[in-house]
Amino acid sequence: MTELTNWIDGARKASASGRFSDVYNPATGEVQAKTPLSTVDELNDAVARAAEAQKGWGATNPQRRARVMMKFGQLINEHMDELAELVSREHGKTLPDAEGDVQRGLEVVEVCMGAPNMLKGEFTDDGGPGIDLYSMRQPLGVVAGITPFNFPAMIPLWKMAPALACGNAMILKPSERVPSTALRLAELIKEAGLPDGVLQVVNGDKEVVDAILDNEDIAAVGFVGSTPIAQYIYGRAAANGKRAQCFGGAKNHMIIMPDADIDKAADALVGAGYGAAGERCMAISVAVPVGKETGDKLIEALVPRVEKLRVGPYNSDQEMDYGPVITAQAKARIEGLIASGVDQGAKLVIDGRGMELQGYENGFFCGPSLFDDVTPDMDIYKEEIFGPVLSTVRAESYEDALNLVIDNPYGNGTAIYTADGDTARDFAHRVNVGMVGINFPIPVPLSYHTFGGWKKSAFGDLNQYGPDAFRFYTKTKTVTARWFSGIKEGGEFNFKAMD
Ligand code: NAD
Repeated sequence: MTELTNWIDGARKASASGRFSDVYNPATGEVQAKTPLSTVDELNDAVARAAEAQKGWGATNPQRRARVMMKFGQLINEHMDELAELVSREHGKTLPDAEGDVQRGLEVVEVCMGAPNMLKGEFTDDGGPGIDLYSMRQPLGVVAGITPFNFPAMIPLWKMAPALACGNAMILKPSERVPSTALRLAELIKEAGLPDGVLQVVNGDKEVVDAILDNEDIAAVGFVGSTPIAQYIYGRAAANGKRAQCFGGAKNHMIIMPDADIDKAADALVGAGYGAAGERCMAISVAVPVGKETGDKLIEALVPRVEKLRVGPYNSDQEMDYGPVITAQAKARIEGLIASGVDQGAKLVIDGRGMELQGYENGFFCGPSLFDDVTPDMDIYKEEIFGPVLSTVRAESYEDALNLVIDNPYGNGTAIYTADGDTARDFAHRVNVGMVGINFPIPVPLSYHTFGGWKKSAFGDLNQYGPDAFRFYTKTKTVTARWFSGIKEGGEFNFKAMD
């Protein structure tokens, strides 16, 4: 049993709280480590030290800070296998998927190697007679990142890399269910040259999160997690005068038009619906075929694909498509929602409940489930299931399908499969969702674009990573300057007589 620590001033430091949260091996159901649940005093102490360390880091020129990002990127690459293993061990996702988790975080580090360019500021020459204006981007000071369990490497990297490259210090509060990857990343960025105290990892639960929200020296909070907590954090951070961007849950739809290539759509749906056991905020959880024939063909194409899915532990000798869900409670909740779908009249085409793997009887495995004839009033449609469950809501027309997506309270990602450019363009233009895929199931934008949902999938302003991150993690100062007539108007060349 490993007793995990915090990361304070460049070293692992035990918490004195005496309170812990269990970290499971989701494949076996065993507790493999304990995360300390730090106290308010520990958080406040970490912030005070970070504020001291930030003074020097913020004054370090942007190119030198970027060099730390370059070395950090190199170290992440060198430790890719080790980091992926850490992710899989606590989260349960397959090793190739865990490598993707690290890789999509690394790509944000790579963009931060170009931070000096993003931080350059603006200049207006002669905004008035002899008057110049210039704007500069300066760090906020100490900022905080609060992250979810489902991407133990990627989301901490999305938070820390831009925040640090902009010259801030960061308090990182990882998910208590998967804390080890963040601690290892903190070691690696120290090795890359980050001064001690600039990144503090403080583990904990609501107590520490509330302390972050109330600490006057924290200028901004970046959160990723479920919608109710995102909304709560946004409200409390804003009430305390902090800048906040809080990303929440999702219910992502894929529309399948009658002219779509059904095999390609079914392949995409299986990967996007069941990959990572459906525990992705960009997972497609609702398929929306347009027309009866499209719906029938889609279900026919999906069934053999879903039945073939291989579910097992990340360290199995055989290749697996996805692993267990995160906790026994998550499994029970998912199976409860499946039961509610049946009770409320949906057609359960494939039932993944009650899955037990030989040798892993206590693991949190859920078999894949597929629903047809789901309607918007059912709980399986209204709730974010966050499990390997794909619901099919049939639509009669393109307009009906589009309106279903528009009326859904979430707006993280969505996709359309079609052979018609005009339909695709209309969809991308009219839909009220932050990230749109055209014949592309999980449209997570590349790291030099930017990531963010609409509606109840995000609270606050500005997206994660890309140009928006450099805006979020800096404040703009604009100087209007005028110089009065100087020596060029006439130097004095002769000895002046005394007045
Ligand atoms: P969660 O909301 O339970 O936890 C997220 C973080 O908030 C954790 O660090 C946790 O310790 C903290 N927290 C939990 N309860 C709290 C409370 N009452 N008060 C204060 N802090 C609290 O989310 P999760 O289960 O770890 O992650 C899954 C959720 O995250 C899903 O809803 C998923 O869609 C969402 N998510 C969203 C995005 C996005 O970018 N929109 C990305 C990944 C995950």
